[in-house]
Amino acid sequence: MSFDFTALYEFHGHRCPMSTMGARLGLAAMAALGVTKADQFKVEGLFHTKNCALDGIQFTTGCTLGNGNLAYAEEGRAAFTLNRRDGRGGVVVTVSGAALERLSGFKEFKARLMEERDISGLARAMEIDAEINRGFDALVDWVQSADEGGLVTVTAA
Ligand SMILES: [Zn+2]
Repeated sequence: MSFDFTALYEFHGHRCPMSTMGARLGLAAMAALGVTKADQFKVEGLFHTKNCALDGIQFTTGCTLGNGNLAYAEEGRAAFTLNRRDGRGGVVVTVSGAALERLSGFKEFKARLMEERDISGLARAMEIDAEINRGFDALVDWVQSADEGGLVTVTAA
């Protein structure tokens, strides 16, 4: 993965798993459709839920709310559809079950540690913060670098 995520996090305002996932969704969709960001007005996107991933999608594809070629639907589905405006095809890129498990696994890990943190002294609380930060960083690193096949599935729209 040669994409430089630094500018994305500057745009998004923070480094997080879902903005990273949005970039992976956008890049995978463009690759599957054979387009680049320069083709932004030849395509239109639909994200099937609403979260930080929207910014990764906007940043990579140029399909943005401002450009009027991106919509989202609060369907609770971690999937991105990218269609050619001339009707000549489209793709749906869906976050894999394994990736969703890993994302929710981190949330559970963090929730467990936060419960412990509430009843811990300062020294343990600081250890817990460090553990959570390490887990978070590892998750972002994984979303950045995981093989596309393990992260998403790509199907025709
Ligand atoms: Zn975020």
